[in-house]
Amino acid sequence: MFVSDSLSVNEKGHLTIGGVDTVYLAEKYGTPLYVMDEASIRGALRDYKKSIDENYENGGMVAFASKACAFKAIYEIVKEEGCGADVVSGGELYTAIQAGFPPERLYFHGNFKTEDELAMALDYGVGRIIVDNGEELEALSAMAKARNVTANIYLRITPGVDAHTHSFIMTGQNDSKFGFTLETGEALQAAKKAAAMPNIALKGMHCHIGSQIFDEAPFAHTAELMIGFLAQVRDETGLTLTELNMGGGFGSRYVESDVVLPYGEYMRRIAGAMKEVAAKLSFPLPYIVIEPGRSIVGNAGITLYTVGSVKHIPGIRTFVIVDGGMTDNPRYALYQSKYTAVVANKANLPADQVVTIAGRCCESGDLIQEHTKLQPCQRGDIVAVMTTGAYNYSMASNYNRLPRPPIVMLSGGKSYVAVRRESLADLCCNDL
Ligand code: PLP
Repeated sequence: MFVSDSLSVNEKGHLTIGGVDTVYLAEKYGTPLYVMDEASIRGALRDYKKSIDENYENGGMVAFASKACAFKAIYEIVKEEGCGADVVSGGELYTAIQAGFPPERLYFHGNFKTEDELAMALDYGVGRIIVDNGEELEALSAMAKARNVTANIYLRITPGVDAHTHSFIMTGQNDSKFGFTLETGEALQAAKKAAAMPNIALKGMHCHIGSQIFDEAPFAHTAELMIGFLAQVRDETGLTLTELNMGGGFGSRYVESDVVLPYGEYMRRIAGAMKEVAAKLSFPLPYIVIEPGRSIVGNAGITLYTVGSVKHIPGIRTFVIVDGGMTDNPRYALYQSKYTAVVANKANLPADQVVTIAGRCCESGDLIQEHTKLQPCQRGDIVAVMTTGAYNYSMASNYNRLPRPPIVMLSGGKSYVAVRRESLADLCCNDL
């Protein structure tokens, strides 16, 4: 029933996360409530680091893709674990810097970075700027020249790999808004241009083929293509690039039927493919960067809601209506994402009711999950939705003028507020 190792049931029949009673957390902090287990986050970061150490002798960096969940405490944890972070906007960059994150360990992405954001990146001394298009390359070169600094960059390459995931989160195929296309020769042209540009140091290449991918084969195939491309760049420009960023996209467990690979398996296959092609092409193995997001924080988080009503429509369905919804978790509305839910105060009872969990927003599509199994419940019960640590808080909105929930972190059996609950006054703070 539980999709994460940090979840269990205590003697009261209550769901626990990180050993802490979720019903107690709901009472203490109110609902809706995001809860995240620090030990899971640290454990996942360590597992990824270990997978590089064990499979790839040329060294590498785990850069947490902070779009999955960005707030100061996460950057602090990632920093303490000796990892890097991928940021994708001035907002994420600013939050990381506010958290004391070392700028040299930041990878700055995005298919439209404004000039203000590029200026921030240059002025903070961000480690690598991942250039997404030709216009950005020109602008960055001019801005670096004006500042008399060198911008250390990767080019984002679209390798033409179909990762068999939802079309909205698939990014490696040729029909993509991201990056320079490999197949058309656009990528090679961009590499030649970047190599010759003033105040630009082309350090390596980047690719990211999509998200929630359970199969290691597309990653291995991408690794082969990318090493092949690095060798082609060397042959055509004389420049041997020493870094390869393979992006993120490793799958997380949302429902029991999801078969998640151990992290080591991805790196074993990626490293194997890289070594084979590098040897064939006599290309020196590059330093590797990976950018997992979802798989670091997804299973570390749950969301707790209070049930407001249960609406039976005979012969149609039963709605369980909760005090949150698409404002704190828009993923079912966006991509029909699957989730597992449990009635946290009755977690020891069989989940024998088929229900639709609906939110409180003024939208019929405001659903968390349809036709899912749940324990019998009524007004006042606490529903926990699992695997909400990734792309929930970071995608949350104030639709219907609903305040965003707080994030409570768990560490060593204790809880602390990492992000406070928005107040009604917060909702008006920008209104003039
Ligand atoms: N790197 C880049 C460039 C991305 O765009 C994303 C997600 O969109 C990621 C890493 C993280 O992907 P995931 O959370 O699936 O690991």
